[in-house]
Amino acid sequence: MKVRVDKSRCQGHAMCNAVAPAVYPIDDEGFVTIDVAEVAAADAELAKLGVETCPERAISIEE
Ligand code: SF4
Repeated sequence: MKVRVDKSRCQGHAMCNAVAPAVYPIDDEGFVTIDVAEVAAADAELAKLGVETCPERAISIEE
């Protein structure tokens, strides 16, 4: 699976990074640095948790 971050919606809360730092790397200001990233099977549940955690609904899952 892949995760996609809509940078126009990301507000730099870094909450996705708090629950899944390996999936959602952030810059010094708390904004996610990835646009689209492949997620290892072992990190799939954490990736989904990040989607649910984002208050801006900026992250989506692509199969
Ligand atoms: S939780 Fe959402 S708004 Fe916050 S850094 Fe992650 S993608 Fe951006």
